[in-house]
Order: sequence, then structure tokens, then C-alpha cells
Amino acid sequence: MNKKGNLSINSENIFPIIKKWLYSDHDIFLRELVSNASDAITKRKKLSLVGETELPEDFKPEIRVNTSSEKKTLEVIDNGIGMTAEEVEKYINEIAFSGATDFMEKYKGKADEDQIIGHFGLGFYSVFMVAEKVTIDTLSCMPGAKPVHWESEGGVEFEMSEGDRTEVGTKITLYMADDCHEFANEYRIRNVLDKYCAFMPYEIYLKNADAKEEPPKEGEEPKKETPVNDTTPLFAKHPNECKDEDYKEFYRKVFKEYREPLFWIHLNMDYPFNLKGILYFPKINLGYESLEGTIKLFNNQVFVADNIKEVIPEYMMLLKGVIDCPDLPLNVSRSALQNDGFVTKIQEYISKKIADKLSGLCKVDREFYEKNWESISPFVKYGCLRDEKFCKKMTDYILFKGIDDKYMVLPECLAVKPIDDEPEEGEEAEKKEDEAKDRIEKVDGEVVPEEGKEEEKKEKTVYYVTDPVQQSQYVNHFKKMKMAAVVLPDEIDRPFIQQLEAKNEGIHFKRIDAAMEDAFMAKSTKKLEEELKADTETLTGLFKKILKKDSVKIRVEKLKNKEISSMILVNEESLRMQDMMRQYGMKDSELGKGEETLVLNVNHKLVQYLLSHSEGENVATVCEELYDLARIQQGPLDPEAMTKFVTRTNKIMGLLAE
Ligand code: ADP
Repeated sequence: MNKKGNLSINSENIFPIIKKWLYSDHDIFLRELVSNASDAITKRKKLSLVGETELPEDFKPEIRVNTSSEKKTLEVIDNGIGMTAEEVEKYINEIAFSGATDFMEKYKGKADEDQIIGHFGLGFYSVFMVAEKVTIDTLSCMPGAKPVHWESEGGVEFEMSEGDRTEVGTKITLYMADDCHEFANEYRIRNVLDKYCAFMPYEIYLKNADAKEEPPKEGEEPKKETPVNDTTPLFAKHPNECKDEDYKEFYRKVFKEYREPLFWIHLNMDYPFNLKGILYFPKINLGYESLEGTIKLFNNQVFVADNIKEVIPEYMMLLKGVIDCPDLPLNVSRSALQNDGFVTKIQEYISKKIADKLSGLCKVDREFYEKNWESISPFVKYGCLRDEKFCKKMTDYILFKGIDDKYMVLPECLAVKPIDDEPEEGEEAEKKEDEAKDRIEKVDGEVVPEEGKEEEKKEKTVYYVTDPVQQSQYVNHFKKMKMAAVVLPDEIDRPFIQQLEAKNEGIHFKRIDAAMEDAFMAKSTKKLEEELKADTETLTGLFKKILKKDSVKIRVEKLKNKEISSMILVNEESLRMQDMMRQYGMKDSELGKGEETLVLNVNHKLVQYLLSHSEGENVATVCEELYDLARIQQGPLDPEAMTKFVTRTNKIMGLLAE
């Protein structure tokens, strides 16, 4: 049975392409060989189940990998199904090699790293990237089969003859090319096996064939070999069989992470597709580490790659986890995966599982959920921005931290009603009540229904603080008025609240300083307007003269809080506009702020001083200081204004010491 043949491949074309393809992942050939070995064992076991072959009584499936640095060889031996001569002809000569031809056809002219399937595809043929000569010695498990020897140098021509293998199974021997001797080294190969084969379902034994083995001394047991892999990794088990400690141990081992995970989700699905996995929520210490997780993708316990963005949505990559999906069509190109309906279903399933777990935690163990919200929150917010269905499921379980440091979910934020502050001295109780009602109407835009009135409108406002330090004045006033606001300090919060508004009709977010009108001002009445008319004229004239800024509009108010002297009135729309422009990379100074309204409180001593001493020598100082004090609660002053402010304040303080 001697046969020679020419593989129908134009070697001149294919090698440069495949060399380039494998350039970054040279070691993949071993994964291909060990996977083939593993498949061959599975096939043999299946055949025995249907009675087509008989397994020896002491059959123990195993894969052996032997290295020899001296001979520059690597052997991969399995006790799987084996191949007859016809099968070698069909599967190796025709299929494995035609796979290479297809590959070349497909990627001719676009040997670009990204476009090429990269991690999947070439199978057996990939051995020629590292070996100059490859032999196969195989004996099929079919009764009466003859052993076959096959060899090829360079992957262009092959020779087949009768072999001498006596055990059922296959041995592949690679004679390494000059620049690939590393793959005949035991340690290098151990690394590669750890990377791709750590969870393969059959035991893999690695041996250095050069090492002289001492025979066991008399009376001593022979040394027990340990496989390099874990054949039943946690993710392949049923969740009922796994204990908390097992999950933590697996996390430590696989992710080399010594901090415990917060919690995990065990995915286990058989129908309509097969998917197993464990997703861990890592503990995040914001500030000094970037949010980067790892999702390891497996196909039947064979490692495929980390973070394949075509399969795992980007936001899930903030987690750490393993996913094994044997049904994934991994031998198609990645761009095809991206548009694959099946992949979408997998993503939806995983996303649903995560949302279920998180909402469950929020409902059942709110204390734990709150305690760890800072670690969970970037994931949830990013997820909401990227995945609409996830957002919908999570909307009611997003936590907002209030200015009182208590956490609320969105429905709780929306249910908050301001409680009126203490009645002022000398104020008539009846008038008070009216005012309180006015304010409630304004605060959340909701008409408090009275008897016989229509059902309440569903307009709700949530006030938020972006910078609790800078906005501390407002926060204090809010607290005083017993009004609620939530703290949303992160960059991601801006697009996030916009998303919530877009998806939930009637919900609005308003920054705390834009809430001034709602929160602090009495309802304007004709009487009040009249009363303040003269003061408004005086103060407008004064500030115009001193500030020399036409863009600053003066508005005089009679605020209940006598401690407030001045404030800048902002509105939410212009804040959003500024945020947006900042996102487009514009500097603060370029942000057209347009008109600015400076609110002055006639109930405050300084404002009263201005009204009664409009010609006084300190008027300019007081005006400038009032304006800067208002501005400083809005945002940083520019360097020039800051210098003036500090100098002026020093001067004022100096007066105290005189
Ligand atoms: P794939 O594994 O994707 O089918 P390969 O090129 O790796 O492609 O292998 C081609 C075929 O050769 C396999 O499908 C299998 O039938 C056969 N084969 C390869 N290795 C072995 C082995 N160790 N034992 C038995 N059959 C094998």
C-alpha cells in the first residue's frame, strides 16, 4: 500500500499567507492537534456505545504529549478512533488539505490580521507552520483494520504506506523547523497546554522524552503521573454540585486574582442551545485600576480566546468569566459571527441572566447590593447604555445615592416628596400652607391632586449633584428644605441619565443648581413684583456699572433663606449643552455660556447694604465679591478671576482685623 501524492495546493501562494496568519499565534497548532485527539476519543466512545466497536476492559482515554529537545520532535498520541487508509486519504489528504486551499482562496489578497479568521480554521494543516516534516501513525478501531503510516515534508507532497502501530489510536510526530525548535521544549509546551488545554475533557500527560527515568526502587510504588489538565472544570458541572469555595478557588486559579469576587452567576443551558459558564463580578477599587475584565471563551472545553468581541458584548468584558459554547460556529469568520442570529441569542441569554441575578440581589439582599453598588455600578450603567433590553430590565434596580448618603432605586427617587421646612416666625399658618403647596407643584412638576381634580400627571423630576464639594451650598439648602437629590459624579452618569430620560417618558433629571427656581424662590406674584421693581432697577444699574458685563442679567428675589446672598441661575438645557460640547473636546473657555442670570436676595444683609449705600466706597468690592461667590459655586473660576477673588477676599478679611 504505497502511495505518493501531490497535495493540490500551490505552496508558493499559501505559505506566506499562513505564516502571516500564524505569526502572532504560532502555538495554535497544538490546540488543533489535541482537539483532534480529543474528538477521536469521543468518537471511539460513541462507537462503542452503539456497539460498533468494543472498548478494552481497562480502557482509559488519554492523550500523551512527548517532547524531545534532542531530536527536535513533538509527539501527540491518543487512544481514540484511529484512521484506516481510506480515512487518512479522505480526512487528511482531501479534507485537511482542501481546508487549506479554501482558506487560501478566501483570504487571497487580504492577508490582513483582522480579516483573517485568526483563531479558527486550519486544523491539522497548521502543523506545517512549525514542522518541516510530519508523520501520522494510526490504527483504526474497526475490526481487521491495518495500521497506516503517512508522512509529508513541507505539506506539499505526502507518502502513505502500511505502518507498524499496534495500539488503536493515532500518533502524530512533528519534526520542528529550524526557527521553531522551541516547540520541542517541555516547558514551552506546558505553557501552551495550560493556555489552550487546561480544561480539556480527557487527561493529557506531558513528558520529556529526553529525561532518563529512574525505575522505581524495590518496594516503592511507581510515581503516579498527574495530568496537566482539569477534565471536569467547574463550569462544566451542574450548579448543584458546586460549593462557594469551589467558585472562589476556580476564580483564583483561572484569573490569578487573589481578591475574592463579589458574587457570580453560573450559566447552564441545554436548550435551545448549549451554553455553560461562570461570570464573576470582581471587586473594583476605583481610582487606581482600570476596569478590565476577561471573558474566556471555550468550545467544548477547548480554549478559543479571551474577549472575543464578536461574541461577547463589550460591556460584559468588564466582568471576569468563562463561557463554553460548543454550538458556536467558530470556524466561520469573525465578521460573520458579528451578524449571526445565534450569537445574538447567546448574548441575550447571558444579558438576561445577569439582569435576573442583579435584580434578584437588589430585591432579596438589598444590604449586600448597596454595599457593593460601587463595584457593580460601572458595569450596570455601561450595560444600560449598550444594551436596551438590559437597560429595561435593570431600570428599577439602579441605585442612586442620595445627598443623605442613603441609596434609593429609581422608583424610590421618584416617590420622594419634599417636606416643607419649619414655619417662619410670624408667618400665618394659612399662607404657609399655600406656599408649601405651590412649591410641591413646582418641585416635581406634579400637581398634587385635590378632591375632584384630575389624576396626577406623570411628570417627575430627580435632582442631581455632580460635584458635592462645589455644589455644597446647594446641597445644604436642599437638606435644609428636606428635599432629595442624588449624587451622580461620574462621566458615565451624563449619558446614562439621558438614556433614562429617553427611555422613561416623563422622567427628568435636573442638576441641583438648575433647581434653584423650584427650590428656593417664592412664587412670584404681582404684589411681589411691584415690591421688588425699584430694587431691581437700582441693583441692575449698579452691577452693570461695576461688572461691565452686558451678558449678566440681574434678578432680584426675596428668598426665604436669609443666608443666601447671591446665586447664578442656570438651566438644565444649557448645562447639557455645555456637557455635550465638552464631550466634543471643547475647552471650558470656548463654551459659549451665553447669558447669565445673577440672583440677588434682598433678604440678605449685603444686598440690603448695596441698596442703602449705592454710592458708598465699598460698593464695588461688595458687588464683585457677590458675583464671584455666586460663580464659584458653579464651576472653577479662570486663573485671572481667581487671583482677583483671592486678593479681594484677603482685603475684606483684612478689614475685620482693623
Ligand atoms: P477538523 O478537525 O476541523 O475536522 P482537521 O484538519 O484538524 O479538521 O482534521 C481533519 C480530519 O482528520 C478530522 O475531522 C478527523 O476526521 C481526522 N483526524 C485528524 N486527527 C485525527 C486523530 N488524531 N484521530 C482520528 N482522526 C483524526
